[in-house]
Amino acid sequence: MYDPKSLQAEEFISHDEILATLDYAEAHKTDLPLVDSIIEKAGQCKGLTHREASVLLACEDGERIQRIYALAEALKKKFYGNRIVIFAPLYLSNYCVNGCTYCPYHQKNKHIARKKLTQEEVAREVIALQDMGHKRLAIEAGEDPVNNPLDYILECIDTIYSIKHKNGAIRRVNVNIAATTVENYRRLKEAGIGTYILFQETYHKASYESLHPTGPKHDYRYHTEAMDRAMQGGIDDVGLGVLFGLELYKYEFAGLLMHAEHLEAVHGVGPHTISVPRIKHADDIDPGAFDNSISDETFAKLCALIRLAVPYTGMIISTRESQQVREKVIRLGVSQVSGASRTSVGGYQQEERPTDTEQFDVSDQRTLDEVVRWLMEMGYIPSFCTACYREGRTGDRFMSLCKSGQIQNCCHPNALMTLKEYLMDYASEPTRAIGEALIQAELQNIPRDNVRDICADHLEKIAHGIRDFRF
Ligand code: SAM
Repeated sequence: MYDPKSLQAEEFISHDEILATLDYAEAHKTDLPLVDSIIEKAGQCKGLTHREASVLLACEDGERIQRIYALAEALKKKFYGNRIVIFAPLYLSNYCVNGCTYCPYHQKNKHIARKKLTQEEVAREVIALQDMGHKRLAIEAGEDPVNNPLDYILECIDTIYSIKHKNGAIRRVNVNIAATTVENYRRLKEAGIGTYILFQETYHKASYESLHPTGPKHDYRYHTEAMDRAMQGGIDDVGLGVLFGLELYKYEFAGLLMHAEHLEAVHGVGPHTISVPRIKHADDIDPGAFDNSISDETFAKLCALIRLAVPYTGMIISTRESQQVREKVIRLGVSQVSGASRTSVGGYQQEERPTDTEQFDVSDQRTLDEVVRWLMEMGYIPSFCTACYREGRTGDRFMSLCKSGQIQNCCHPNALMTLKEYLMDYASEPTRAIGEALIQAELQNIPRDNVRDICADHLEKIAHGIRDFRF
């Protein structure tokens, strides 16, 4: 039975409803008046149901697909302007007791080096990340109650927030760790985390169980209901994602949107972000062993349709993707990108990219300075802002500001100010020159006079090295 308000995984991600949705989408994909009416609804920024969005995903009409892309671009501009939030992953430990068949950290992998950062090493990683200019991290760890218990994760979060090196500071720590209990989510919230991110990997229960043959992650229901427990524990910004390549993408897309509908129906607020990872080559993992890989074209269409279906949800693209793919999907709706990522444990302290503890190959291997310059050359404002969650703009408060369009008055000036900080503290000369010109031009675009005055005043202060406020 399908019930978005149910708290049982098999009911809010109903297999039968997904199959019925895929049949409906297939049967209606050539019904162009219906397709047009769905595109029109998306244009009113009302979002789309999983059924409506699935019809658009199935539609193969070239002209409609171009309209979907154009609309995704327009919605992206409307809600996110030209800002792109920057972050980096920080791997704490690759000890793991699970058996995930696509991940090299699986327990049976005996030749990958196992490593867990000490607090001194965490501090060194954080200093290396701060020295690049990063302000926002996503911490990552395998699941291992003995080697990486929650107490260890909490200790690492404390260490990360405590390091103030030169003008650096990590101002927001997002957390990507295994599904856990309400009590543990409460403790993460108390530790001051930003978003709790957990990828579903696949919404298809039977596939999920065979892709996770052993370990606590095998429990589909416990994993799928994790976001409800996180919200019960007080975390109101949660990040969803599927690992594209494991199952049929149309199935995953419907499941992902049903999950978002469920969170909205039960908790009154949908996901804060959606990530769109694709399987990559890794230590003992061959992506060719998974049958459901998707082309770059399909990947772009998925990103555009996520933008149409959940216009207020941020979308994240990692360095799993190449510069070229990232360029395309940033235009279509992605709002956050990682830069200069190392997916190994302790990788930031080392000159050369270490591969012995790496989770997967990184396609985009540019430095943060290069990523920032690249974004600005395309007309985007790289934003290092983290103000929202510290100012209490999370969950439904964030969403209502976003829906009314008021968020622009916070995000745009803050993005410029954090970019200015970055340019002064970390950028190379060519990057700084492009950035300063961009900031001056952008300042004129800030709509309200008083906001513009405050922003200009703060920019002036930063230029004189005065940092008496926090973003
Ligand atoms: N242990 C936590 C969990 O179980 O959710 C954290 C997950 S891991 C550090 C982060 C994500 O990397 C996983 O959720 C998975 O989707 C992704 N991942 C694992 N292996 C991958 C691969 N070979 N290529 C791309 N992404 C991969």
